[in-house]
Amino acid sequence: MKIVLATSNLDKVKEIKEFLKGYEIYALSEIIKSFEIVEDGSTFQQNALIKSRAVFAKLKEQGLDNEFIALSDDSGISVDALGGEPGIYSARYFDLDKNGKVCGKNANDANNRVKLISKLKALNLESSSAHYTACIAISSKFGDYTTHGFMYGKAIDEECGTNGFGYDALFIPDGFTKTLGELDNETKLKISHRSKGLELANFVLKSLKKNFS
Ligand code: IMP
Repeated sequence: MKIVLATSNLDKVKEIKEFLKGYEIYALSEIIKSFEIVEDGSTFQQNALIKSRAVFAKLKEQGLDNEFIALSDDSGISVDALGGEPGIYSARYFDLDKNGKVCGKNANDANNRVKLISKLKALNLESSSAHYTACIAISSKFGDYTTHGFMYGKAIDEECGTNGFGYDALFIPDGFTKTLGELDNETKLKISHRSKGLELANFVLKSLKKNFS
């Protein structure tokens, strides 16, 4: 059983590969020609399934469904003082207009962080409780499966550290005094939403693996 990651986010690919050692894992671009996936779900789970199903459909088209499964991650940060923003729009936060609609395609990690900081400052807050969510979806010839992982902590109004990606420089996990941007990768791998979701997904993977051989 081989795994194709249904994501083009190289930071996620790196973390997933580090966590799921022992599996034969491929980046999407190594197996399938790039194609657009419209993530128009309203939950992390819906968007994760949209991605894993779309990639599995391509694997099937290419006759690879007896060899490969597709695994996706849909994730983001939810900040309590902002009513749960950016949530499922974490990757596109900078592009959200006042009505919460996506307009434009200019968002990147840096300007998303600037927007989060300015939203906290507009409320005169130096920090707010927040959490990360990751939904892991697996699509295979035996069906679809999803798991979730969470990491709780607080979002702060200034960037600290350069490790990780996305909002990591703004997030201090519960039990720590430093942001994920300052903590090392090994520590993040032990406590992250993605690792917790993958830990559960590993049960599904082990069971699928038996059915493949
Ligand atoms: P997705 O690719 O649509 O799932 O969007 C995920 C976005 O959520 C990323 O682009 C980041 O902005 C944010 N995010 C998810 N997981 C992490 C993480 O582990 N660290 C920092 N940001 C994350």
